[in-house]
Amino acid sequence: MDSLPVFDDTIAAISTPIGEGGLGVVRLSGPRALEIADRVFVPGGRKSVPIRSAASHTVQYGHIVRAGQVIDETLVAIFHPPRTFTKELMVEISCHGGIMPTKLVLDALLAEGARLAHPGEFTKRAFLNGRIDLAQAEAVADLIHSRTELSLAAANEQLAGKLSARINKLRDELIIALAHIEAHIDFPDEDIAPDTHHALLARLEAAIAQITLLLRTANEGQILRRGVRAAIVGRPNAGKSSLLNQLLGRERAIVSPIAGTTRDTIEETANIGGLPIVFIDTAGLRSTGDELELEGMRRSRESLARAELIIHVLDGSEPPSAEDLQFLREFEAKKRVLVANKSDRPRRLQLEEPLNGQLIWLSALSGDGLAELKDAIRSLFWSGQITAESLEVMINSRHQDALNRAKEALGNTHRALASQESLEFVAVELRIAVSAIGEIVGKTTTEDLLDSIFSQFCLGK
Ligand code: GDP
Repeated sequence: MDSLPVFDDTIAAISTPIGEGGLGVVRLSGPRALEIADRVFVPGGRKSVPIRSAASHTVQYGHIVRAGQVIDETLVAIFHPPRTFTKELMVEISCHGGIMPTKLVLDALLAEGARLAHPGEFTKRAFLNGRIDLAQAEAVADLIHSRTELSLAAANEQLAGKLSARINKLRDELIIALAHIEAHIDFPDEDIAPDTHHALLARLEAAIAQITLLLRTANEGQILRRGVRAAIVGRPNAGKSSLLNQLLGRERAIVSPIAGTTRDTIEETANIGGLPIVFIDTAGLRSTGDELELEGMRRSRESLARAELIIHVLDGSEPPSAEDLQFLREFEAKKRVLVANKSDRPRRLQLEEPLNGQLIWLSALSGDGLAELKDAIRSLFWSGQITAESLEVMINSRHQDALNRAKEALGNTHRALASQESLEFVAVELRIAVSAIGEIVGKTTTEDLLDSIFSQFCLGK
């Protein structure tokens, strides 16, 4: 992006969740932010001044008034560029949380000439105004959606520009190589000296190695962003709902001594050793004529197909039933953990070895053995320690796609250069790689790409 666009409209949105709360924040960004806010703001305190006269990064106390009617008592924060979230003039009005105060404050601003912001538009402006790059903008969304401290830490690293720094360095190095090659295209009489030829090949190899390393972080990145889908299966009364409650740390599923009472599937995310695990409690996979239960079974099958982990709960106080044996066979090929529940009772469960999957004895009633189960789940999806460095760069699926394309183009570049093909062809492939890498940080973008990224943001962000 050569020159930065300038936005002449001023956008406004409620930036806090809709609902009742202590505070609600309405945000304004754009050239007329001060003027529009002043039209609805009446300074209240002895030291309060109109918004246009206030110094940057200060807070003013007063009331939001519309048609002579006080809407709310507020604190208004004023930010002059460039040190603002969007790099534009910004005003943040903190009013009372609740649907009416925030809505009426927003309405007042819209009536005075602000335009309602699209989802993610504040962050999009921060990107288009050059304050953050695209990978950092995505990190803002990751930060908001993070469900464990680890997800949050990884998002913070990306927001701080750790991934961007690596990507920019990689891209810069390839641009130098491209410049070399293009110089030789312009002066076709000069051959590339053997030394330079060798150095160029080495540079391409180093870039491919770098990309391979980054691609390896994709799996763990996905886990922290999306979480792992784990289905809890087992015959009715084995203790699936009780186990889910223990894992979530609260009463969620209905526990009942009557077989077949979990009619629906339940999805909840728990923090297991820092990883967000999305647990799915499936309705008892049991064949009866009951229609509700048949519907439950259909849904269970669906969520099972999508699960990345199976937690098969068996009743440890009984020998395995025919159903248990069927489940054992059915999920042979999936990543799974076997739970022998009700370890507080006499142990009567014996399984024939060898079995795919660790067997863990626990009591969903007392919580005994739960820690072992959590460890087993975590180590299935995250090898080794989770260190600060391992969180530094973790690519998402969009980055993964761009890096795969770059890697392929670099492979072609290398092959063409090594076999002395025309330098025009070499340059074409190298340009494809540079452009694909540039997409990650937003050096090369399309309107569609930006729309697809920012539309995933919530309103007011
Ligand atoms: P589900 O049908 O597999 O979801 O099983 P539930 O969680 O509803 O549990 C069925 C019955 O087993 C309930 O009466 C629970 O209280 C009981 N139960 C569950 N876990 C344990 C356990 O670890 N020990 C004992 N003694 N009873 C349990």
